[in-house]
Amino acid sequence: MIIKPRIRGFICTTAHPKGCAAHVDSQIATVKARGALVGAPKRVLVIGASGGYGLASRVVAAFGGGASTLGVSFEKAPEDTRTATAGWYNNHAFERRAKAAGLYAKTFDGDAFSDAMKAQVVDAIKSDFGQIDLMVYSLASPVRMDPKSGVLHRSVIKPIGGVHHVKTLNLDRGVVHEVDLEPATLDEIKATVAVMGGEDWEYWIDALQSAGVLADGFRTVTYTYVGSELTWPIYWHGTLGKAKEDLDRAATAIRKRLGPAGDARVAALKAVVTQASSAIPVVPLYASLLFKVMKERDAHETVIEHIDRLFRSALYSKSPPPLDEVGRIRLDAIELSNPIQGEVKRRWPIVTTENLPQLADFDGFRADFLKIFGFGFAGVDYDEDLDPALTAL
Ligand code: NAD
Repeated sequence: MIIKPRIRGFICTTAHPKGCAAHVDSQIATVKARGALVGAPKRVLVIGASGGYGLASRVVAAFGGGASTLGVSFEKAPEDTRTATAGWYNNHAFERRAKAAGLYAKTFDGDAFSDAMKAQVVDAIKSDFGQIDLMVYSLASPVRMDPKSGVLHRSVIKPIGGVHHVKTLNLDRGVVHEVDLEPATLDEIKATVAVMGGEDWEYWIDALQSAGVLADGFRTVTYTYVGSELTWPIYWHGTLGKAKEDLDRAATAIRKRLGPAGDARVAALKAVVTQASSAIPVVPLYASLLFKVMKERDAHETVIEHIDRLFRSALYSKSPPPLDEVGRIRLDAIELSNPIQGEVKRRWPIVTTENLPQLADFDGFRADFLKIFGFGFAGVDYDEDLDPALTAL
């Protein structure tokens, strides 16, 4: 099969095995170039490990810190006429490189929300290394089957309170246009909190703690996005924000459970291009403007650079940075600083399809988007006829 990008709306329905491996390689190279991570955790579990911030966390833990890693993700294997999802190739590429570097790496593909997955992971921890030092919880999912009630919750990305009229960007065509976003109902808000809030994070901690597999000094971290006035109506003040507020609640509850020796934190991260973020209205336009402004000021960070900084400067630094008023780690301070936001806000009302190339970095956004699926890497032959089931990546 000759594998080319096939973009439908905000997703790409194909993924390139060798390109995904090249993506993993470039992340490993970035981390290695920054040197060994001192004081790093040695046994790490990453939930949502196959892409975006979760994969970057696994790469930093393994190739910066020399950690053994267990990963959980929900990816699709290839079929005769279909490629696998990008995360499936990423997992294979990661494991191969970790093993070649003498690092333990095991990945479970299945539903992280289920009791069965939690039991499988507990068994693997018990049999393979006893206890874990860090759990990164980096899930982004549109649905969750509640393991206790059997109810299937579907999250929505909607404003709350009223219709929100907003500018957005069509990823396929590069067209800036305006849309009306209908507000969420109460049930939709509750469902989004059930999917993206903190309950499942707490269930993971319950399962791990009651099995006795949390090491002394165990830590856990999950990721949030706070953003600014430009994204608040669709994000922080919308359904997703309610779910993210619930993570703050869960972090406090988990800290109590772990006691003074442990820690649970929410880290507020910057906007980046991932499969999850591309699906949020407003984000492609906001991020394209943000990237241009941050690159002009030499303040841009890629996904892997950002997570590398999280580990080195916050999670495992000798003098961790101050926390915000609800106890979050704030890595988004540069994105939210006055000079950056001031300039993005100045450009926001004047950006159009015509001046997009001058005001925004849509090319950069699109290139990052394609890279998620393994497209656009130098050294990969995109005309090569490949077996989509290729795992020797
Ligand atoms: P992503 O889409 O790149 O990755 C999501 C991961 O979750 C994948 O590994 C996927 O396989 C896994 N997953 C989804 N459903 C699953 C299930 N049922 N069982 C097991 N695994 C499942 O997402 P991302 O953007 O890296 O988001 C990760 C976290 O970071 C989210 O909490 C998100 O809100 C947060 N965050 C993202 C941004 C951003 O700009 N992308 C900014 C700040 C915070």
